[in-house]
Amino acid sequence: MVIDTHNDVMISILEGLKIEDDLTGKTHSDIGRFKKGGVDIQIFSIWSDERYEKGKGFNYANRQIDSLYSIVMRNPGKMMMVKTPGELKLAVQQKKLGVMMGLEGGHMIEDNLQYLDSLYKRGVRYMTLTWNNSTSWATSAADETANKLLKQKISNGNNSQISGDSVLVASPTGVPNAFGREGAGLNELGKQIVRRMNELGMLVDLSHVGEQTFLDAIAIVTKPVIVSHSCVYSLCPHRRNLKDDQIKAVGKNGGVIHLNFYSGFLDSNYERRKAAFFLNHAKELDSLKALKWPSFDIDIWMSKKYPGEMQSLRPPLSLLLDHLDYIVKMIGVDHVGLGSDFDGIESAPQELDDVADFPLITKGLLKRGYNKKEIKKILGGNFLRIFKASQL
Ligand SMILES: [Zn+2]
Repeated sequence: MVIDTHNDVMISILEGLKIEDDLTGKTHSDIGRFKKGGVDIQIFSIWSDERYEKGKGFNYANRQIDSLYSIVMRNPGKMMMVKTPGELKLAVQQKKLGVMMGLEGGHMIEDNLQYLDSLYKRGVRYMTLTWNNSTSWATSAADETANKLLKQKISNGNNSQISGDSVLVASPTGVPNAFGREGAGLNELGKQIVRRMNELGMLVDLSHVGEQTFLDAIAIVTKPVIVSHSCVYSLCPHRRNLKDDQIKAVGKNGGVIHLNFYSGFLDSNYERRKAAFFLNHAKELDSLKALKWPSFDIDIWMSKKYPGEMQSLRPPLSLLLDHLDYIVKMIGVDHVGLGSDFDGIESAPQELDDVADFPLITKGLLKRGYNKKEIKKILGGNFLRIFKASQL
């Protein structure tokens, strides 16, 4: 049983591609390749960025959910919606792709608990508290990191603009910061939302959140958490990865960390190699930036335009297994799984070209001496355990 907890192909579907078609070369995912890769359950990300703010986010999330429902209805022999552990097992038995949904970005509930309930009813089974943008009630890794840099700069007497994607907003005390309010982490509304998620049976996803939000959330949850698509900070110090204390906290909580396949979260030298590649195409990049494209759109555009150069930037597949080993050694085999982020990333390790390549991971695990029982847990058993626990 193979369960992948994060896939962003819905972005391309909303742009007009059909998941029934062979989309090789255009996307990482389509129905045929899910089958080929032996994927049993795919959690599709219902994602939006900060452009879908109040008045827009909830609608946009529902449009993506509508689209997924119509895909499943068009393919009753090949797919089914999964909202309960019982349905998950049924999908596996019937050899259909079980379709699950995770909301990537708490801003889409627009500070409204009724919207949260409504999304749960429609089948959303985890919510990533923040995407890169903070909400009014939880701060993101991107913003918490930007804020720390800003504080350092101010204390060094340097008020120049910080780099990165974060936008500085005036906070109530007048000191500008990346999230427009004093103090990081969950505020009262944030705590209410996390508690409501636990009551409903919606997994609390701690990918993308800042360290303070992580701490505040894990302190009050009553169920195991999910980290749907992140890696190990000690091996690759990126703000999206988990530090050792966070990994240990997930172990204590009984949760599961699902590894992201993104080269930039696995390999600490990837960003440097990518920067060198981009430098070779500086003019083209400047024109894309002038069009105000978000950086991830630019990355994906460049990867598709220069597949040969992108190929040479990819780290070996063994690096993904190194991240997995690290977590297993620290907190045990019950707390790790796969959250590929396919179709949300411009580069994955060598050989992992698309969703058809999941068997290579099984092969790699066998080669590293994991036994059948352990491999079953990693590939999906661990997720099923926290999914069941979330519903109690
Ligand atoms: Zn993400």
